[in-house]
Amino acid sequence: MLGQMMTAPLLISSLIDHAGRYHGDTRILSVNTGGGTEETTWGTVAANARRLGSALTAMGLEPQARCATIAWNNRRHLEIYFGTSGAGFVCHTINPRLFPEQLVYIINHAEDRVLFIDETFVPLVAKLRDQFTTLTAIVLMGPMTDAAAAAIPGIVSYDDLIAGGDAGFVWPVFDETTASSLCYTSGTTGNPKGVLYSHRSTLLHSFAANTADGLAITSRDVVLPVVPMFHVNAWGVPYCAAMVGAQLVMPGPNLDGESLVRLIDGQKVTVALGVPTIWLGLLGHARAAGSKLVTLERTVVGGSACPPSMITTFREEYGVDTIHAWGMSEMSPLGSVNRPLAKHGTLPVEQQHRVRESQGRPPFGVELKIVGDDGQDLPHDGKTQGDLLVRGHWVLDSYFRMHDTPILQDGWFPTGDVATLDPDGFLTIRDRSKDIIKSGGEWISSVELENIAIAHPQLSDAAVVGVAHPKWDERPILVAVPAPGQTPDPEDLLAFFDGKIAKWQVPDKVVFIDVLPRNATGKVLKRNLRDQFAGVLTE
Ligand code: AMP
Repeated sequence: MLGQMMTAPLLISSLIDHAGRYHGDTRILSVNTGGGTEETTWGTVAANARRLGSALTAMGLEPQARCATIAWNNRRHLEIYFGTSGAGFVCHTINPRLFPEQLVYIINHAEDRVLFIDETFVPLVAKLRDQFTTLTAIVLMGPMTDAAAAAIPGIVSYDDLIAGGDAGFVWPVFDETTASSLCYTSGTTGNPKGVLYSHRSTLLHSFAANTADGLAITSRDVVLPVVPMFHVNAWGVPYCAAMVGAQLVMPGPNLDGESLVRLIDGQKVTVALGVPTIWLGLLGHARAAGSKLVTLERTVVGGSACPPSMITTFREEYGVDTIHAWGMSEMSPLGSVNRPLAKHGTLPVEQQHRVRESQGRPPFGVELKIVGDDGQDLPHDGKTQGDLLVRGHWVLDSYFRMHDTPILQDGWFPTGDVATLDPDGFLTIRDRSKDIIKSGGEWISSVELENIAIAHPQLSDAAVVGVAHPKWDERPILVAVPAPGQTPDPEDLLAFFDGKIAKWQVPDKVVFIDVLPRNATGKVLKRNLRDQFAGVLTE
């Protein structure tokens, strides 16, 4: 016997319909690429999303055609999120900090049909556009400029495109497991891999992420998503905000401490979300400017480990609650959120503070476990370390166009993180099982850097490891073994990376060693190197 309740597919269009209908006059402030601000509302964003959906449909794009964005957090980007997915296309967000070759790879691999760009990225796209094999349209996110028209012949203006669209467009209805959005993630080896989210996974993630023990965004909040919309859908914040009709402050390109403090104080922001590096800049400026961040109630920090001292500073100097969260692109991203349990309320205050430092507990809808090298489950005792595995409604099953490459272990996704879990499910990330370097919230592949360094004629061996850096959390250093009889110049070794990888991925320093420590099977013991050179960028 079936239940006798209504069913409707869980579609992203229903989120923007809700925001437009019930929160139509709720304000959205957007900082545009030039630095100026503009105000809009959920009502206008919803109408523009429909206009865009109708215009893209009129272009004759096939269902689930990929529509890419290279853009900052702004209101047009928000309209594109809902307009593309709502109309049955796939919103493919691209990280502009990728090396140009990766960008070309991603756009061609995804077979993107339309590319939306902010003005900032006109020169980049102009340089690469001949290499894009599948694009039929490039759209400038704003009114047309002479510079853009000259640099990219045929580029069209977003404002013109939606002006020809229909605000009464009716969203198509389709299966909720249909693809909705796409984000590539780069690992240690090989090309970036695509994570293809569905309407259903996005809606379920939004419901769960926004519970009271989660992000807890309400219609009374003013939300500042500093986490970029090109990184795991800004942690799902645009969808959560639409679901409850929260006010949004879209910060545009400038994420320095001064700009953020000005936005928080000027717009009376109550919740801000971002990686630890961003908050270091913000705290530095707030202190110097004498701001007390009076309206800010909480910050959500994730993407890399949040230093306990940051939680203390926010709490003691600004009265701001820091919510430490963990997740991955492959998890939409939310895997855990740090919210205390009732029993913690009776602990001495110092211990309550300790509880808040870990990456927190999984919300309903995700399960976490740790396993040993033999794949067997390990105890959740808060002490035993193991490889972290996850499963749930918004966890990846296989990478885009890699159906034939199974990645699950008995139905669980291996995160590549090493962690402990306590009996309440509190997660502490210890390390990455691979040795990827996280610099300011961005990935740097050590293997890629090593492959370049090793080609230098004056080196016989090389390893790259991440070590602590006061601003970027972690930066790569090159551990180099000179070839016999050679005394290579460090500057020369670093210059060797020029033009081969993005500038921000070049190691900060070279250290020399006679021989690399290796394990029995010949693998470099990177943990030893990290310990040996831990302080070279901080001393
Ligand atoms: P990404 O897919 O780029 O979002 O990166 C996901 C990875 O970032 C995770 O597998 C972790 O290694 C790391 N990460 C994310 N959040 C945290 C956190 N709160 N603490 C430590 N590492 C984190």
